[in-house]
Amino acid sequence: MKEVILIKNGELALKGLNRRTFEDMLVKNMRHRLSDIGKFNFTQSQSTIVAEPVNEDADFDETVERLKKVFGIAAFSRAAAVEKDMEVILKCAEEYLTDDLLSARTFKVEAKRSDKKFPLKSPEICAEVGGYLLRKYPHLSVNVHEPELIVNVEIRDRLAYIHGRQIKGAGGMPTGSAGKAALLISGGIDSPVAGYMMAKRGLELTAVHFASPPYTSERAEQKVHSLLKQVAKYSGRIGLWVVPFTETQELIKDNCPEDIFTVIMRRMMMRVAQIIAEREKAGALITGESVGQVASQTMPAIACTDNVCKIPVFRPLIGMDKDEVVIISRKIETFDISILPYEDCCTVFTPKHPRTRPTIDYVEECEKALEVDRLVNEAAENARFVLINAY
Ligand code: ATP
Ligand code: MG
Repeated sequence: MKEVILIKNGELALKGLNRRTFEDMLVKNMRHRLSDIGKFNFTQSQSTIVAEPVNEDADFDETVERLKKVFGIAAFSRAAAVEKDMEVILKCAEEYLTDDLLSARTFKVEAKRSDKKFPLKSPEICAEVGGYLLRKYPHLSVNVHEPELIVNVEIRDRLAYIHGRQIKGAGGMPTGSAGKAALLISGGIDSPVAGYMMAKRGLELTAVHFASPPYTSERAEQKVHSLLKQVAKYSGRIGLWVVPFTETQELIKDNCPEDIFTVIMRRMMMRVAQIIAEREKAGALITGESVGQVASQTMPAIACTDNVCKIPVFRPLIGMDKDEVVIISRKIETFDISILPYEDCCTVFTPKHPRTRPTIDYVEECEKALEVDRLVNEAAENARFVLINAY
């Protein structure tokens, strides 16, 4: 017997002709995410991918933990792979699923037979395996409607697979299948969640963080690294650009009316982020904004921000309440990092009375006091690259 993992890809199955490309991408992502655990052989057939470890000593528990975070997987299970012989299959079901069989009171057997040359048909396999297990585990009874345990037997091309409980996958689409986008990441709660949500839809992430030393500390940047490391467990590795923003912020502070600081700052961020997006061949920006959350996130303020954007801005949290965002941030384990107290560049320069209904004319008038192009180009030029790996 050899232990393998059977992966079921959910939404992928809907993609018709593109399915193969999507599956290949999913396999590439899984291979990468498991690379330091060991080498795996992947084989694909009929909306199931079989991952088979090449070396005996691959850590299966860790493999399972990693796969739970790979987008494009609806569900998966650890399975025993054995030769296609009924005697062997019965023995294997009895032994491989001992723990599950002992802890369940009711069960049923489901059989799939893609190898039509196998001598028994699916209902016959069910009857034989079910009968055998009832004899071996007399405390069990069969319940076809609501069994506590489903014993699955799949007769495929090369081998038979036996598995019990399914593990829920992360869902979504394989990272990279929808292209690439640049995530504006602060040290807050929202932006890491926004990155996670868009990665779930198949976007590969590159990240942009604005730092204003000495107003913001080295530890604030480290916090962003930690947040991205956590997001990367789902999205795969992330290239981060750390943009020096001190001069821009000081000039805004010294030359523009205080009530419009944040909107101007946000527009400057978007301009720089677009240059970096182009460099990274990213087709959109992602932010963690949500309508009405703060003064810079009113509809008129967002209109002023969008006014300088030539590529789409994805705001997956736009209609969410903070507590809904917090639930996701706890799930992806960014919350505890986000609430560490280090100053962010926004908080340092936050005005006391921000204008909640800025107009584009007013912002443009105020920006005349700045050398916008020079500041934006220099900031993008001087950005520093850090590669963030998940593990
Ligand atoms: P977050 O929790 O993500 O910081 P927030 O609710 O605190 O969001 P703001 O601080 O107004 O909101 O920021 C709105 C969005 O602007 C953030 O979600 C993020 O996408 C972007 N942003 C803010 N500060 C930075 C920064 N220093 N570097 C990069 N992006 C930033
Ligand atoms: Mg913030």
